[in-house]
Amino acid sequence: MPSSLCEALTNSSISFDYQKEDDWITSGKLGSREAVLVFRTNILNPKIRKTLSEKSSAQVLTDTKDNEEEKPVQSPQKLSEKEPTSSEPSSKEALSGSTQQKIFLLKKPQQCDKLDKLTFSSPFKKILNRYSSSDTSISSEGEEPASSSENKSRVLKTSQNTINIKLAADLSNESGYESIAPAKTISNTEVIEEDQEETSEDDAECGINMPASKLKITYKFHQTETKLLRKLFNVHGLTEVQGENNNFNLLWTGVHMKLDIVRNLAPYQRVNHFPRSYEMTRKDRLYKNIERMQHLRGMKHFDIVPQTFVLPIESRDLVVAHNKHRGPWIVKPAASSRGRGIFIVNSPDQIPQDEQAVVSKYIVDPLCIDGHKCDLRVYVLVTSFDPLIIYLYEEGIVRLATVKYDRHADNLWNPCMHLCNYSINKYHSDYIRSSDAQDEDVGHKWTLSALLRHLKLQSCDTRQLMLNIEDLIIKAVLACAQSIISACRMFVPNGNNCFELYGFDILIDNALKPWLLEINLSPSMGVDSPLDTKVKSCLMADLLTCVGIPAYSPEMRSHFDQKWSRFRSTSCLRQATFPSTSQKTKKSKKKGAVINLNLTGEEQRILRNARLQYSRRGGFVRIFPTDDSMQRYGNFLDSANGIPISTPNVQSQTFQTPIIQHNYNQMLHQNLYSKDGRQKQDDNSEADRIWQYERALETDSEIPFVKKPTVEKCEVEGRRLRKIMLKKISNGSELTPFQARQTFSMYLESVLRRLTEDPKDNHEKIILKFLNKFGGSVKPPVMFRNMQTIKVASKARSAMVAKLLGDFLENYKRDTEAYVDSFDHFGMIPSSAYNQFLMHAQESDLEAVLTLHTNVTGIMPFLYNRCGLSVPPTPPIPSGLHGFLRALPSMVSSTGINRELSKYDGYFKNFDKEKVFL
Ligand code: ADP
Repeated sequence: MPSSLCEALTNSSISFDYQKEDDWITSGKLGSREAVLVFRTNILNPKIRKTLSEKSSAQVLTDTKDNEEEKPVQSPQKLSEKEPTSSEPSSKEALSGSTQQKIFLLKKPQQCDKLDKLTFSSPFKKILNRYSSSDTSISSEGEEPASSSENKSRVLKTSQNTINIKLAADLSNESGYESIAPAKTISNTEVIEEDQEETSEDDAECGINMPASKLKITYKFHQTETKLLRKLFNVHGLTEVQGENNNFNLLWTGVHMKLDIVRNLAPYQRVNHFPRSYEMTRKDRLYKNIERMQHLRGMKHFDIVPQTFVLPIESRDLVVAHNKHRGPWIVKPAASSRGRGIFIVNSPDQIPQDEQAVVSKYIVDPLCIDGHKCDLRVYVLVTSFDPLIIYLYEEGIVRLATVKYDRHADNLWNPCMHLCNYSINKYHSDYIRSSDAQDEDVGHKWTLSALLRHLKLQSCDTRQLMLNIEDLIIKAVLACAQSIISACRMFVPNGNNCFELYGFDILIDNALKPWLLEINLSPSMGVDSPLDTKVKSCLMADLLTCVGIPAYSPEMRSHFDQKWSRFRSTSCLRQATFPSTSQKTKKSKKKGAVINLNLTGEEQRILRNARLQYSRRGGFVRIFPTDDSMQRYGNFLDSANGIPISTPNVQSQTFQTPIIQHNYNQMLHQNLYSKDGRQKQDDNSEADRIWQYERALETDSEIPFVKKPTVEKCEVEGRRLRKIMLKKISNGSELTPFQARQTFSMYLESVLRRLTEDPKDNHEKIILKFLNKFGGSVKPPVMFRNMQTIKVASKARSAMVAKLLGDFLENYKRDTEAYVDSFDHFGMIPSSAYNQFLMHAQESDLEAVLTLHTNVTGIMPFLYNRCGLSVPPTPPIPSGLHGFLRALPSMVSSTGINRELSKYDGYFKNFDKEKVFL
């Protein structure tokens, strides 16, 4: 059994050559604890990918040949005895490389000629230097850092990303309007799957050549699906594991993690959340945590959120506050997002009783751009809570409301004036998307740097604004950190297991004061424009590199696993590993570390990791610790253990260990920033940070946003297939529930598109009535919230109805995934024929099929299961254009579902009683 990591590597069956100029592994030599994968956006470029794929097929041949020469199965011992060839340096040679610019690629360097030429010709050359300058700045053993000017040039190069045009095309359907436009997209599920398959095959082929592929590095998605991330993983050679398999290197979940999974993480495994992170990301918890800090530390230090109440518990307090300082108030469901269920009221008595919501003081004087209200989405990466390490991504997104802001109370109903969410505004027919990634200040989505430049031109103090934003972020994290640290102590077995990217929503008022609105768990990585693609792909590549996915081979991992299970059998708690004072010196000597010998092994590890991580930070700006963070925030930390304290009586004693012997925050700060310990690579000065926020993410080439290529529907073919389907139905064939639901959702998609392109007052009323009756049956419920809206016919009202229908469709389609036709049933329409029909069907074809099927069979499988309890009688459906749509509200029971609905929505009953529309 190998006794060390290096030995484990030597015994590995994987052999690496390295290319001096290329780098896919950084921070340490392959086989060292620090070696991590590098992620770069440039290989998303189709040209580079193609070359990599070509190379990889040549490679496969060589690999096969080489493998044939080797004995089929060799014991690790035997492999270690293998003589190194001249073109294939031994792992030891690779390990003893003197600089970390040595990049580990697979097999023979001469095969890479073509790639090299292509890769190192402009613009890619600059990109590939991305991490190499930082690599020379620090070695895993803490060698001399690069100068700060080098650092600056690195930062500039960081953003020389070239984004894959095809990526933009592939991703364009992720979350944008395109995804609901059936005439432009292929609606047939099979065809979509085929299309995705093609793309992922292409990605995987490119990935074959990557170290991650040879190292068998894996990722797992759980309750999340991001095409951008999947693509990044695949082209970098990571493979997906699914189901119950927990043998992943990186787990990416869209929800909070099960503690069982966290508890059993091995040291090389990474997950994208911290336990108990909901303390930050649930609106009600966040406000409570900050409120506690306001009481404990003084309002003036934590005046970072609008005054907020959690209903129904604090209804009285809300009324008292309203009597002191009048509204308006903004009402939000506690655990919702994307503007769902939000409404604004002038007075608390307009809020339904028993409403479970968070109510905040409405900021009536927001910063406006050209008269439009805007807010900010910034990306915050926390890599550790103890010590606290926070990065802010240099680029963020500014979202503008479509309708010009007018603070008059009559307009409070208008979500396209008061809410800046893209998911609301995208349905407004005046919404403008910039069509070029370089246009960062065009339309209703800007970049943060474009906003800063715009404000600077108007002589605004953007430096102070960004410092205030940094301050707000740090304070919000400090306010919530205590319980997250305590959960980490209890459940996270290794210091590096968790990291988290938070989406901070910030509103700036017209005095340039930033206000924290909410913190998003798993901020959306959907892209709907070139600008999104640019910002989010750079963000994700930089995130993965900064966090560091250990470049361990399976052998090294199994070595770790064995060590790990022994360790876990003695203790599963991280703090149990603190060495005694006598251990300190011994360990330091043994490792020959050049860093402070007074540090414990754990402290040395933390310091080394912090430095390495900083050297890989790409576009991330470290905002905590900085040279003055102890002066600014030291008062909020416990003087003994450095933990942010947010409850008056809780001292370190209440943590898992009786006495915590360390103060990691202080240790890190001292070693990074104290006069004698100060190192240039840690010179994270205020001026550097501000400079970085204000510069644009640069790209070397134009990035046209190419929409996903679509297959035009053939109208004639659609009509022909429709006739066949109608005949089958008349002859007694039925649609399966899955087919019926597919048809219904495609039909509603067509209606939705009409609503946004050519709003029809009459159809909006029908849709509203249907949703108010049926919207509660999907989860989360989709219902109409704001009564005043419906009184005024306008583009904004159309947008609101469209948003409701869009939300409904999203949930309905998710529910539809539970229905599968694994084989054709007797008496049902064969799925292949039906899929053909769906591929070419237009709205009128879909309507004709739904109408005839409902009239002939007398059932409505798109709305109800056969055995449902409260299925209403099927109404006759009038023939003719939009007959099905007109009959839709009457297909929904006015009793059963109503009762369900009223549980969720106080407005529902009123709406039905008032019968505003019908
Ligand atoms: P969600 O999570 O549903 O997106 P947010 O808290 O981000 O909810 O709010 C949605 C939008 O409402 C924001 O984009 C912002 O424009 C607006 N908003 C939220 N809270 C306030 C407030 N207190 N004052 C003014 N506008 C607000």
